Amino acid sequence: METKIWSVDKNVDNVQSYPQITEPAQLLQAGQVVAFPTETVYGLGANAKSDEAVKKVFEAKGRPSDNPLIVHIASEGQLEEIVEDIPDKARRLMDEFWPGPLTLILKHKPGKLSNLVTAGLNTVGIRMPDHQVALGIIRASNLPIAAPSANTSGKPSPTSAKHVEVDLFGRIAGIVDGGATGVGVESTVLDCTVEVPVILRPGGVTLEQLEAVVGEVQQDVALKNQETAPKAPGMKYTHYAPKAPLYVVKGHPAFLQRIADEQRSEGFKVGIMAAREHESEYSADHMVIPGSLADLHTVATGLYDALRQFDEVDVDIILSESFPESGIGAAVMNRLEKAAGHQIIDEKHV
Ligand code: AMP
Ligand code: MG
Repeated sequence: METKIWSVDKNVDNVQSYPQITEPAQLLQAGQVVAFPTETVYGLGANAKSDEAVKKVFEAKGRPSDNPLIVHIASEGQLEEIVEDIPDKARRLMDEFWPGPLTLILKHKPGKLSNLVTAGLNTVGIRMPDHQVALGIIRASNLPIAAPSANTSGKPSPTSAKHVEVDLFGRIAGIVDGGATGVGVESTVLDCTVEVPVILRPGGVTLEQLEAVVGEVQQDVALKNQETAPKAPGMKYTHYAPKAPLYVVKGHPAFLQRIADEQRSEGFKVGIMAAREHESEYSADHMVIPGSLADLHTVATGLYDALRQFDEVDVDIILSESFPESGIGAAVMNRLEKAAGHQIIDEKHV
């Protein structure tokens, strides 16, 4: 399949009239799938009302069909069309965080969306992205757009159009290149169908921010307990994984370096992922710095590109530092531990 690529400056006003926006919107209306940037990661969009269009998303990604897609909208009017009723807490969260990296799980009206989007559930995840290009395309298409991350299932999510090309070129109708995304990790998924909202996936909006608006917020116990089935169907799958085995190391830099030295003495090529502040404490065959401890948002922004960089070089094993779990760090560690298949080496336990 021919994959058309457009480039657009995400900072321009009135993007809506640009051919880089209207052409992808027309492809979406015609039932094709198109990748576009959002403030979190690149999304792979399709008409959320069309089984045929949504099927193409699952096919292009190789995504398991029991994993529902998030529906992206550009106005609250679109929301009213899709969902049954909007609880007061959800309303307050939308007022505060939309457009932005917060997905709300709400009950949907029957018959308004493809069953493939919801994986047959009576609920749907909805968000309004905070990105002029994404909003422009959704508006121009005049459709609710189902969009998971635009990567091959299992690989790290794409934070640049280049990442999308590596995974999906030739498999989708188009890619809108709007430069690097900002937040770097996906949206927070919050179940708002229960009295006390529950975080099903940590993400761009933090627990602390949510609680400041609606009081108590719980976290799905499955996020910390590998034995329990997660409430977000997609959370049980391997995700974000680089090709070489990845281990998250909890402890001092000297402890991580000792493991690296052991591996290297056995002839393995070792990659290390660490915070900027610790760069000088390591020696490895390949070193990647996603960001700085002084601002964990930089680690979130750089995380997926860092994981993908290890696929470009010759390493047999990757050791990553762990990061503090406060604020955006909760999402960073959730993704990192998943990328590692929960292989964690803790200095305290050796
Ligand atoms: P992605 O599209 O890759 O960003 O992943 C979307 C995440 O939201 C996955 O973990 C899904 O399982 C989850 N999700 C989407 N819709 C629902 C829903 N109705 N109920 C629970 N989780 C959902
Ligand atoms: Mg994804």
